[in-house]
Formats: sequence, structure tokens, C-alpha cells
Amino acid sequence: MSSYVIRQAKVLGEKVADIAIEDGVITAIGTDLTVNGATEVDAKGLVALPGLVDLHTHVREPGREDAETVLTGSKAAARGGFTCVHAMANTDPVADTAGVVEQVWRLGREGGYCDVQPVGAVTIGLKGEQLAELGAMADSAATVRVFSDDGKCVSDAVIMRRALEYVKAFDGVIAQHSQEPRLTEGAQMNEGPLSGELGLTGWPAVAEEAIVARDVLLAEHVGSRLHVCHLSTRGSVEIVRWAKSRGINVTAEVTPHHLLLTDDLVRSYDPIYKVNPPLRSDDDVQAVREGLADGTIDIVATDHAPHPMEDKECEWSAAAFGMLGLETALSVVQQTMVDTGLLTWAQVADKMSAKPAEIGRVRNQGRPLEVGEPANIVLVDPQATRLIDARNTASLSRNNPYAGLTLPGEVVATFLRGRPTVSDRTLVEAVTV
Ligand SMILES: [Zn+2]
Repeated sequence: MSSYVIRQAKVLGEKVADIAIEDGVITAIGTDLTVNGATEVDAKGLVALPGLVDLHTHVREPGREDAETVLTGSKAAARGGFTCVHAMANTDPVADTAGVVEQVWRLGREGGYCDVQPVGAVTIGLKGEQLAELGAMADSAATVRVFSDDGKCVSDAVIMRRALEYVKAFDGVIAQHSQEPRLTEGAQMNEGPLSGELGLTGWPAVAEEAIVARDVLLAEHVGSRLHVCHLSTRGSVEIVRWAKSRGINVTAEVTPHHLLLTDDLVRSYDPIYKVNPPLRSDDDVQAVREGLADGTIDIVATDHAPHPMEDKECEWSAAAFGMLGLETALSVVQQTMVDTGLLTWAQVADKMSAKPAEIGRVRNQGRPLEVGEPANIVLVDPQATRLIDARNTASLSRNNPYAGLTLPGEVVATFLRGRPTVSDRTLVEAVTV
């Protein structure tokens, strides 16, 4: 297997050092390293981070291979600096059996661009009625530890309680899409003055907050792990902050788009901005940034949600919910959190690599950049700026809400266990597994 010496990278944005990679493992970090036959990688001015881990990706396979496949989603992930993504269960068929999760897991391995860790459905068919085969999915080759009906909320409190109880046996976690269904019937955008002005049915913050509040109390009662998906309101941040202060075992994620974009964009009636949960107010954006900075929100997760253009190029109310996110996540986090002084690169590594791997109980991902660890590494050029072009993507879909914006930062290289998946700012065409 090839060896590499990454020259003069800023490790975690701090100390400048060389990193040696042999047989897929980091074998040395220091100055003036020499490894016989190694390929030299000039990383002067680049920040080295551990390979990113996403806890919330939609790869659409099986069932909607026109929107994305495990392979194309993996390529988009590699371009974004990710070495592991969690594939959500709302596929067709739903990932509610050992058979489907093993299929997704195997496709990820065959692709070789990143580890694809399947998320299992909480309930059969995401119907919210009967628990799926949680134990069988946990015991399968895919070793599922994260369970979610994402796209739908487990709204029945008894089912949610049983799910929390069941996953304790294998240290699993329920990742909840917090959306009270009755309060969001027909909802199209954030409820507020603007929804009234635009004549679109409002999606109140309380529809999210009521479920977050209920679930942290259920998690406390059961003594189990709860993860709050794509938290989006100031009230949700406050509830999670309270729950943590009380010692409740809850973690939470925020998406890049909820860190940057506001509901004001809906004025355009462009369905590219239609997403679930909806883009919120400026005040909510400030609150989620503060929550991420102070540790109330544990991680950034993309909620990468590919849709073919026919599902987006239509009138607002008929359009699908969702946005792409894998290839732009790090840039949005740089702009909103690093360049604003709210987070250091070391903290970004924690929130986009170490913590998501820990919540998902993924071994050998989210590891520190240290000797003896797997060589999952991303090199970022923080000085670069790029004009986002929706056509420049490895995804099969084009629903990119940042198209036309200039964002900071660019992924120069991504290594998965010592093999480059991205090299010289370009996707490696064939990764040998
Ligand atoms: Zn969701």
C-alpha cells in the first residue's frame, strides 16, 4: 500500500507539522519526516483535520436512485471532507430490517469513498405504530446503533418510550425528528409575520419544541440516550441546555443551513429554500450558533437531502422538502463559526468528527490525529474562496441552496484509511478498495 508524507500542515489549525501515513495508519507526526518511497503532499497553509463524520445523510438508495445512490452520495461526502456518513432509513424499502441495512452498508464498502453506516428505522415502514427489528439490525453486519424515523416524528409517546427502552440493551440511540404532526399539518415555512405576509401555512417553533421537551423527559425517565436531529429554534436550544444541566443523556445536532440561512429567503418563493424543519428567524440563527459554540448543541450534521429538479422546480407548496449539504458543510461552518471567532478548528474537529462518531458509536472514525490512528484526514484550504455552482457536484441532484454564493474554504484532499478519495481538490476517479 502507498505511503504519504503530508508536509507542513497546520494540524487542527494550530501547530505546523508533517504527517506520515503508512499502510493506512498515521505512523509519525513531526518535522522533516522521511518515509522511503512515500508520495509527498504539499500542505503548506492547509489545515489538517480528522476525516469528518456525518450523522445525518440521505443517500436515497434503495428506491430513489434517480436522486442519489450510495456511491454518488459517498463521492459527494468525500468531496466535503467526510470519511463516514450515516445513511438515513427513509428509503424504499424502508431500512427497517437487517437485510436492508446490510445492503446499504455493503454498497458503501464496495464504493470505497467513505464508510456508510446505516441508520435503522425505529418503527416498521416509518409508520409510527410498531417497533422495527431493532435488535436484528443491531446484531447485523452493519452493527446499527442509531435508529431514526427521520422525515417523520415518532409522535406516539408510548412507542417512543419503548424504543428508548429497547436500544439500551446495545447502547443504541434514538435520533428524533422533532415535529408534532398536528401542529404542522400543511405547514410550509416558519410561522411568523412573514408566513402571514406570504400566505403560506406557518410551521410554529412550538411544534419542534414540544417534542424536544417531551423526549428529554422520556429519556430521563427511561435512562436512555436521545439525540435531537436538526434542532432549529431558540426554544429547542434552551430546552436541551436545561436537560443537560439536569444530567439527562441528550445530544443535539444543527445543520449548516440553519447556521446560515433565514426564512427571509422564502420571499423569493424559490422551493430551493424549502426544508424540514424550515429556515427560521435571524434570532433563531443567533441562538443555534451560540448553542453550538457553548456545547449545548453537540454536533453539525448535514441533513444532505437530494431531490431531482422536477421535485423542486414547481410551485412552493408542491415542492419537496430538503437541501444538499455534504459538499458545502465545512465551508458554511467556516463562515458562520470559525471566521466569526465562535469556534476554533480544533473545536470544529470535535463537532464534525469526534462527537458524531461517539454518538453513533462508530469505531475507527472520529479518531484524533495521532500516531497509531487510522489515516482518516482532510486537508482544507481556509484561504480559498469559491463561487458555488450547483452543477459542480458529485451528487446526482442539484438542489443546492448556496448556488451563486461565494463561500470560504475548500477541501484539498481527503484520505480514507490512507487512500486518497480527493486529491489536488479533485475527486479521485477510482478508489481501490
Ligand atoms: Zn429530519
